[in-house]
This record gives sequence, C-alpha cells and structure tokens, in this order.
Amino acid sequence: MAFLEIEGLSAYYGKARALHNVDIAVEKGEIVAVVGANGAGKSTLLDSIMGLTTIKGDIRLGGDSLAGLSSRAIVEQGVGYAPERFNLFPYMSVLDNLLVGAFTAREEADRNLQLVFDLFPRLAERRSQETYTQSGGERQMVSLGRALMTGPSLLLVDEPTIGLAPKVCLDIAESLRRLNGETGLTIVITEQNANFAMSLASHLHILETGELKMSGTAEELGSDEELNKAYFGH
Ligand code: ATP
Repeated sequence: MAFLEIEGLSAYYGKARALHNVDIAVEKGEIVAVVGANGAGKSTLLDSIMGLTTIKGDIRLGGDSLAGLSSRAIVEQGVGYAPERFNLFPYMSVLDNLLVGAFTAREEADRNLQLVFDLFPRLAERRSQETYTQSGGERQMVSLGRALMTGPSLLLVDEPTIGLAPKVCLDIAESLRRLNGETGLTIVITEQNANFAMSLASHLHILETGELKMSGTAEELGSDEELNKAYFGH
C-alpha cells in the first residue's frame, strides 16, 4: 500500500470534467511531480486531494479515504497545501500569515514555526513585514511556511516556480529538497517546467487535458524521445 493512493479519480466543475480516471501512487518520503501545460488539470488534482472539487474515485492517505471529508478534516489528516497564487493576507505580517496555518495544530505552533524559520531564515528576519510588500519568492516562502505550520505528513505545492526568476526557482528547489531530506516529508508538486520537476522528483506523472499520459522515474521519462521533444525541449 502506497502512502498516498489516487485511484480512478475524475473531477468535475458542474458538468464539465477536468480530470478523467487518474491513478497516482506516492510512497512515504518521496518527492513526486505532476507535469502538464496550462489547463491540464494540475490545480484541479491538488484541489481534489484537498476536498475542494466534486470527485469520482478515491483518494487515500495512509490507507484512510479522504473522499467526502471537509477540507479542514483533510488538513487534520495531515495534508498541507501551498496553492498556486498563495492566497496570503496581504496586509498581515509574515508572522501572522504563518500563524494562520497553525489553526489545526496550535500546540505544535512554536515547534513548527522554528522549523519554518530554520528552513527560511529570511522569513525570520522579515517576520514583521506585510506580505504585499514582499517579492514573489518571499511570498512563496510564506505560503510554503504556512502549509508547514499545519504539521503535515504530505505537502502539496502547486507550481512552486511560476513567475519566479531562475535563481529563486533554484532556492525553492533546494528548500524543498532539504525539507524532504531532513524531515522525510512526502511532497507532491505540480509543474509546467518539466526540467525543474525532473531535478527534484523521483517519479513524474505527465497530465494532458485531464488524463495521465505517462508515469515513471526521471530516468525512464528522460530517455523517452517524444516526451523530451514535447516537454523538455531537447
Ligand atoms: P494552470 O497551469 O493554467 O493553472 P492547470 O493544469 O492547473 O492549469 P486547472 O486549473 O486544474 O489546470 O484547470 C483544468 C481545467 O478545469 C481547465 O479546463 C479549466 O478551465 C477548468 N477549471 C478550473 N477551475 C475551474 C472552475 N472553478 N470552474 C470551472 N472550470 C474550471
């Protein structure tokens, strides 16, 4: 049994189907990437894990089904979410935005805050800054930090590199790698940037118009010629 099991997942917005029959298994301690173009269904996949869409199929974490649970209950089951556009409170400080994430884990807030500040020392330095004055990279750090404040066993990150400069992307990749290496946290990211995804993830899943086109290790997919042309640009 894998840690996260997505089985026969279809997701709907009204009658429109955004995901069709998706199967993904993630082992504990792994970093996995879901790669796809605009509109492929990447955000819908993560929203579905968080209980934010109407689904068919099943999603299990540690063997327990998340289907039909409220988003709050899903956070309490151990899923942390850093969404694509961050959804920070712009006129609140870095610290207050982080503390919002502690709503289900108040007793561990001090310990989790220490972990976030160790991972992103820049946030400790700028804890009083209002987030609307921050750079995109810093806001991504706050968003990741807020998700970590829930004390997750699974971290979902939607397009961590979108809109960020190449150097900042490398920093974010390094932080996620460190987090995974030091705490063993299981991480699922979505990406349009296939090369970034490949540099970070042990397994990749290629999503096209709501369906899984291919899955495999970085080596397996990296040696596929058609895929290279379509996604990796070499
Ligand atoms: P992007 O990288 O552009 O965010 P994505 O891979 O994350 O793309 P989704 O945002 O999951 O793709 O969108 C998948 C499909 O579902 C698209 O056709 C989109 O128009 C549709 N969709 C997404 N959100 C909604 C919504 N709230 N209501 C109706 N349709 C939606």
